[in-house]
Amino acid sequence: MKSRTLRDVKMKLDIKNLTLWQLSVEFKKLGLRSFRARQVFRWIWLKGVRDWSEMSDISKELRTMFAERYRIGQLKVKSRTGSAKQGVVKHLFELEDGSRVEGVWLKDGSRRTVCVSTQAGCSLGCTFCRTAQMGLKRNLLAGEIAGQVLAISKGQAERITNVVFMGMGEPFLNYDACLDAARILNSDFGPKIGARKITISTAGITEGIRRLASEPEQFKLAISLNAADQKTRERLMPIAHRYPLTELMQAVRDYTSMTNKRVTFEYVLLRGVNDRPRDASALILLLQGIPCKINLIPFNPYPGTDYEAPTEVDVNRFSEVIMPHLPAVMVRKSLGGNIFAGCGQLALLQPTADS
Ligand code: SF4
Repeated sequence: MKSRTLRDVKMKLDIKNLTLWQLSVEFKKLGLRSFRARQVFRWIWLKGVRDWSEMSDISKELRTMFAERYRIGQLKVKSRTGSAKQGVVKHLFELEDGSRVEGVWLKDGSRRTVCVSTQAGCSLGCTFCRTAQMGLKRNLLAGEIAGQVLAISKGQAERITNVVFMGMGEPFLNYDACLDAARILNSDFGPKIGARKITISTAGITEGIRRLASEPEQFKLAISLNAADQKTRERLMPIAHRYPLTELMQAVRDYTSMTNKRVTFEYVLLRGVNDRPRDASALILLLQGIPCKINLIPFNPYPGTDYEAPTEVDVNRFSEVIMPHLPAVMVRKSLGGNIFAGCGQLALLQPTADS
């Protein structure tokens, strides 16, 4: 690959940030027909080429013109931790400005899921979350978000079936880039991941929930809930002050009635904080009548946190209380726990596990 100058990075449009439709519009300005956009998009997002010279079915003149105007953004994989055999591989990426983010590959039954970061760090300060300690560095661009999937897929023999926007950051505080990334991943000329296999998770930004409800695609919504009462939720997730539980649940109800789709609720179980029988009863009441799936995630403690993992007895008791009353309850295995790749644990701190 040719070396890329700082001037290139600053001056040229990175076409990796464009959806297929946006690329067609861009090429139209050059008088090119839309099949050219499909051709280039396929080279980048299906075949994973990183340089114009590799696009062998495009004439040399056209490739030279593209190279003068555009660049193809790159993402460096700095390290991989874990293994396919363990069922989880955490990737540390370096972006072109030196920012670092993480993306995780997970094996779960027949699913091969990639969890992507949407921001470098996060501004929301959830008190159980490792990423929160970093603060927010910046929003990621669409190509940087979708590019994590491309980079991870290159290192895996098996096809990626699902993508979840649940890594570092709050997707709805970077809404447009996240939706463009989802469209890139969903494209028939790219990775072709089904819209229903792409899930965007929010800590509860109601404007984002309402916007997603009006999108034409079938992307799925997950809510990082973690508490069924306002007081506990404020303790765990300071964003709950701005978006109270009543407002959040109204947005979720409106979303389900507008879209006829189920919502997934993520609930990280923290010992003695939100894993008691009374918390389970509150959750039953809160979610009554909402078409949903509930993922219970036993907390994975990390160095420096004050929170503790729930006991197995508490996890079983919690799930047994809610199961008869709520649909589709799953206790998620803490696949990434031992390499700090579990929920709320992506924070660029290098684990000691084998890589
Ligand atoms: S749990 Fe998610 S929203 Fe909350 S601080 Fe961590 S990354 Fe941000």
